[in-house]
Amino acid sequence: MFLSVFEIFKIGVGPSSSHTMGPMTAAARFLNDLRGAAEIIPGAGRLTRLGASLHGSLAFTGKGHATDRAVILGLIGYEPATLDPDKAEELEAEVRRTKRISPPGLGTLDFDPEADLVFDYGPPMPGHANGLVLRAFDEGGNPYMTQTYYSVGGGFVVTEAELEAAKSRTLHAEKAAMGYPYPFGSAAEMLEMGRTSGKSIAEMKRANECVHQKIQPRELSGQITRICDVMNDCIDRGLRMEGILPGGLSVKRRARAIHEQLLAESGTNQRQPHAVNDWLSVYAMAVNEENAAGGRVVTSPTNGAAGVVPSVIRYYRDHCIGATQEGVETIMLAASAIGGLIKHRASISGAECGCQAEVGSASAMAAAGLCAALGGSNEQIENAAEIALEHHLGMTCDPAAGLVQVPCIERNGLGAIKAVSAASLALRGDGTHFMPLDNCIETMRQTGEDMNTKYKETSLGGLAVNLPEC
Ligand code: SF4
Repeated sequence: MFLSVFEIFKIGVGPSSSHTMGPMTAAARFLNDLRGAAEIIPGAGRLTRLGASLHGSLAFTGKGHATDRAVILGLIGYEPATLDPDKAEELEAEVRRTKRISPPGLGTLDFDPEADLVFDYGPPMPGHANGLVLRAFDEGGNPYMTQTYYSVGGGFVVTEAELEAAKSRTLHAEKAAMGYPYPFGSAAEMLEMGRTSGKSIAEMKRANECVHQKIQPRELSGQITRICDVMNDCIDRGLRMEGILPGGLSVKRRARAIHEQLLAESGTNQRQPHAVNDWLSVYAMAVNEENAAGGRVVTSPTNGAAGVVPSVIRYYRDHCIGATQEGVETIMLAASAIGGLIKHRASISGAECGCQAEVGSASAMAAAGLCAALGGSNEQIENAAEIALEHHLGMTCDPAAGLVQVPCIERNGLGAIKAVSAASLALRGDGTHFMPLDNCIETMRQTGEDMNTKYKETSLGGLAVNLPEC
């Protein structure tokens, strides 16, 4: 499936793309379906109540990921890109107090989150680990409309029918239908098309994107710059904020203090060479602290892994010799090409494949992007992505208390460090290497399939069950 750079990098809110943004989007879609139903007459009183149930990983870690709040806000009519994160708490409290909800165009309906929003801890739904069912009832209490959605990672949401259709759609049919100039569905195809056309990965991705969006390259550049601005704003806000993150673990924000130390050391002889790793960590941690606080972030490709790519872009911009705005755009394009391949051939969902699919994918994307911006050949870029992904294989998802804080915040810093190392190693070679990226992605998929459910965003194993005594 073709994935646009703006689907991989989406503006949203924390703390989770699959558990917060996806359910909010699903609720908004449900409202649209309800409005579209012919029998609905706004204010006629036929439709009286809404209900929702969360299944699988959405139930197990939904409280820590604010899934209940996301569904409530979605049912009010908010969407991740437009919600003001500072108002979320107040809006949720109002619904909990009144037990009523007024979605635009549907009148005022009963919705008591205590009774009508169910965390179902039974077996997950068959289609995906992140399932949710939304229901509308008439005045007799009869089901009026029921829709099942799956939040499949990175904020993407599909209905049951769409999930089935996606499974049966062949890549060949999709390529033929879409008419992209460079319709690569694997890293091998991407390299082959690059060799035949003489174009870089970023150039091929740019050409595909312009066809997809029916826009000129200049307009595309402007849109990419706007996404990068949101990423940078997020880093800057994270570097300014201090205090305790919400959720009950009493995790302190650390980015600001570390950043102040790094600034104080700059230009002195107190600076160790490995301090550059701390710069990478602090940029990533700033983003992930903002994400944990429910702030404005860009999925990259998910919220849990939202710090890696912005950190590497900031590192490139502020620390690398010869950085340019064109180079930043190259990072975004090459990174989204790799993210699209991983999502298409495996997964970017922690609930599906563990953290290897989230921070591992983000690291591979960032490595490819940096390698491209620093002048790497297509083969070196593919090598960089492979190195970064390979050394995240097997990484589980086991967030303490279901919050996207421990290990997630630091993990993004380490993902960024690995990305820079992978890009640097690849640039020191000629692009030839033993393990192709396609094989590595397939290994990630198989490993995720074999991984025990305890380690796939359920908080039933790993660090999540080995918390320190407080
Ligand atoms: S452990 Fe990784 S996959 Fe799991 S919530 Fe944290 S960042 Fe996401």
